Amino acid sequence: MTPAEQPWLIVGQGLAGSCLAWEFWQRGVPFQILDRGNGGCSRIAAGLINPITGKNFEPSWRINDFHSHAIAFYENLEKILGTRLWHPLPVLRLATSAKEWEKISSKLHLSEISHWIEPADTPAPPGFHGAVQLSGGGRIDTANFINTTRNFFSDRSLYVTSTYAPDVPGKNRILCQGAEGLMLNQLGPHRCAKGEILTLRAPWPESHIRIGAGGWLVPIGNRHFRVGSTYEWNQLDELPTSAGSERILAIVAKLGGPDFEIIDHVAAIRPILRRSQPLIGKNMDDTWVFNALGSKGALYAPKMAFYLAEWIINGRRPDESLIISC
Ligand SMILES: Cc1cc2nc3c(=O)[nH]c(=O)nc-3n(C[C@H](O)[C@H](O)[C@H](O)COP(=O)(O)OP(=O)(O)OC[C@H]3O[C@@H](n4cnc5c(N)ncnc54)[C@H](O)[C@@H]3O)c2cc1C
Repeated sequence: MTPAEQPWLIVGQGLAGSCLAWEFWQRGVPFQILDRGNGGCSRIAAGLINPITGKNFEPSWRINDFHSHAIAFYENLEKILGTRLWHPLPVLRLATSAKEWEKISSKLHLSEISHWIEPADTPAPPGFHGAVQLSGGGRIDTANFINTTRNFFSDRSLYVTSTYAPDVPGKNRILCQGAEGLMLNQLGPHRCAKGEILTLRAPWPESHIRIGAGGWLVPIGNRHFRVGSTYEWNQLDELPTSAGSERILAIVAKLGGPDFEIIDHVAAIRPILRRSQPLIGKNMDDTWVFNALGSKGALYAPKMAFYLAEWIINGRRPDESLIISC
């Protein structure tokens, strides 16, 4: 078998590796996935998709390019996998101060923002200075996506549980290792950030995702909610902490209420590099890389996987803003 005919080895089966595997599968390109089988942040992420984000209330980077592609990608896989992945829900963006509400209000007329605003069907809860309702939001059930994808490819002998050893010779490798890959520092200084999430049971309204007070509250059905999150740059491990829990409980007090039970507490590390934008490219040693999905992997992974597959298979190099300089 010549190197060109060797199946591609996709290292890592988080959102990046999974989306790329589906691109290869749908194009009939031979591949195998290798993953350690535990860890990684896709399995714990809230999977939130929110077009207008952050304290500055700005559109996510290239939202128009990535949003519709991502939704179509997950909806198509729902048919193949026979499971629900995309749970659309309106986003209620809440302002905790008069200054924040002034900033949000001043941007509502901008075309790139007004496009995502819809009439609010619920008032701002007590304690907030204003609320705006956004369309296009929802959550991807990332754990379900990862598990059903793994089962699908395992059943076809295209998935192996193992640890990748870079010193073993081989061709046609694509490294989708998330934070673990970035923390090797081969792509330059990283800005990976640990994050923690609580899962709660509570009698709160389940009609909207609530965003504000430095966090989010996402209904996941049956009176369960996920709440987060924290950013921690020094202690980069996957261990939940009491400090993290305290920070999230302060968000819960503002976005939810007093009456809840904690069901679960998880932590993982977001893969973040430089500009906090997803990147694809080729290393000096000819391995390909797909990483740096940051805090928005659910939104960015599908189209980035498409761009990478087009580049690898058809030689179509994407625009330079998507390319990692290794
Ligand atoms: C607390 C928290 C909340 C988040 N919430 C959201 C959200 O609401 N919305 C959103 O879009 N994103 C969210 N994210 C970000 C999202 O989780 C990431 O963008 C995305 O999951 C990254 O996917 P990935 O495939 O690059 O990495 P990972 O999911 O980390 O996958 C990498 C995989 O590679 C494997 N691996 C690494 N090295 C090796 C090796 N040597 N051998 C074998 N296997 C290996 C790992 O085991 C892992 O399975 C959140 C992240 C965190 C931490």
